[in-house]
Amino acid sequence: MTSLKHICKQAFIKPNNKHFFLKRNIASTTLNENYSNNYDIIIAGGGIVGCSLACTLGKNNKLSNKRILLIESSKNTPFTLPEKYSNRVVSLNPGTKKLLTDIDAWRHIESARFGIVKRLQVTDALSDASICFGEETSSENVSYIIENNLLIYAVKKELERLKNVEVLYEEKIKEYHLPDAAESHVNLHLENGGQYSCDLLIGCDGLNSRVREAMGVQYLNWNYNNVGIVATLKFSEEINNCIAWQRFLPTGPLALLPLTSSMSSLVWATTKEHAQQLLGMSNEQFVDALNEALWKVYQRSNIIDRTLKAFDTLLRASNIPADLHRRYPPKIDSIDGRARFPLGFGHATNYIGKGVALVGDAAHRIHPLAGQGVNLGFGDISCLNKVLSDAIYAGSSLGNVSFLRDYESERQKYNVGMMAVVEGMYRLYRTDFTPIVLLRSLGLQATDVFYPIKKMMVNQASL
Ligand SMILES: Cc1cc2nc3c(=O)[nH]c(=O)nc-3n(C[C@H](O)[C@H](O)[C@H](O)COP(=O)(O)OP(=O)(O)OC[C@H]3O[C@@H](n4cnc5c(N)ncnc54)[C@H](O)[C@@H]3O)c2cc1C
Repeated sequence: MTSLKHICKQAFIKPNNKHFFLKRNIASTTLNENYSNNYDIIIAGGGIVGCSLACTLGKNNKLSNKRILLIESSKNTPFTLPEKYSNRVVSLNPGTKKLLTDIDAWRHIESARFGIVKRLQVTDALSDASICFGEETSSENVSYIIENNLLIYAVKKELERLKNVEVLYEEKIKEYHLPDAAESHVNLHLENGGQYSCDLLIGCDGLNSRVREAMGVQYLNWNYNNVGIVATLKFSEEINNCIAWQRFLPTGPLALLPLTSSMSSLVWATTKEHAQQLLGMSNEQFVDALNEALWKVYQRSNIIDRTLKAFDTLLRASNIPADLHRRYPPKIDSIDGRARFPLGFGHATNYIGKGVALVGDAAHRIHPLAGQGVNLGFGDISCLNKVLSDAIYAGSSLGNVSFLRDYESERQKYNVGMMAVVEGMYRLYRTDFTPIVLLRSLGLQATDVFYPIKKMMVNQASL
């Protein structure tokens, strides 16, 4: 990776200077001779998805002679692993871990730190129903818990080694001109006046994507009445901490994601009013509220309890033992770094256009209850990487819609399915209406003992 800012510094040119592009030949002695502001691919936005996409494309042999530029508006802050864990983590599925291994980024995470989820236990606060995913459904770990800043650092470490990828930090893209039928290039303008063009623009600019706006595609979206509270939790004792716990409360789902033998990360989705109260509490009061949320026995309907017991007896009589694997969450002792995040749903009706594609949160945004948001983005990366290889192999231009359409249809098929399941779960668990609680509890209990279905669910979520 060659940072333009760095090159400018060496050549004593201010990048904001309007003559920058005239003088770039002086500054580009360390770059290839055809250096210009025209690239094959420009990636707008260098968050987790944009950086990982740049690295994946940069390492693709079929694209090795293509010039790729990544533009990110935030600073390239140097990273050293702090003793304290960050409160922003993501749960990465085995498919995402494989992609990170393929681009050599996983080794940097491995030599730093991460949590392993061997088992996921989901419970309903309004009944005794529970479901468990783990060793019995897959030989793989369920997921891996990584701090967001460590993940970006690991990918950037590999990005730095690539000669065909350049990165511009602290530069915001102001405007996009997408090609009409007669044109073949995308043009874009930076806030500092700089102009670039490319064959393919990839929008990885997050949920408020300006690339998506420029494409003029429809975007189905809404905000949830839920907000997400995150924090790092410490237990009163060391445990074999390899279980991710999720409890669906009447106010929203609460999840503990393992980090170390005595620490987990909290993602607590709750109503805005409740979040306000929780964030106004002292640390001690918050810990009490959290322990109560994990353990509280809510008032339950007799009908639900009796029907579930009868169902359990039926399963046992049929020699299908239910509830064998239920474990109980640890007691929380202290917390650190509380913060809140808005939660919403969003989906672009189109992910592509001539010379342009959307990837990650720019294309889709979901509730974090299933920990799938960024994993969907990594699935997009894998698919787009393959589609662009096919385009090169066929001698086509990178912005050719007929190839990009393969990316769109494959990813929409998968993403829409996953988003519908997550949205369905969110709605199903938002109510305390007895018939619905009864139905979802029976469904959960039945699925828990029916391994082929569980296995299928795990496989689908791991792609
Ligand atoms: C509380 C919470 C918990 C979550 N937990 C999980 C989880 O467990 N597992 C999971 O898979 N997902 C999870 N997610 C979702 C996940 O965090 C997101 O899907 C992911 O961070 C999106 O990454 P992205 O790179 O697509 O977008 P972003 O992170 O939004 O990155 C976009 C980037 O584009 C840059 N940018 C924007 N506009 C411009 C511009 N005009 N010019 C230049 N740069 C620009 C921004 O600076 C930013 O760096 C969670 C989300 C929340 C809120």
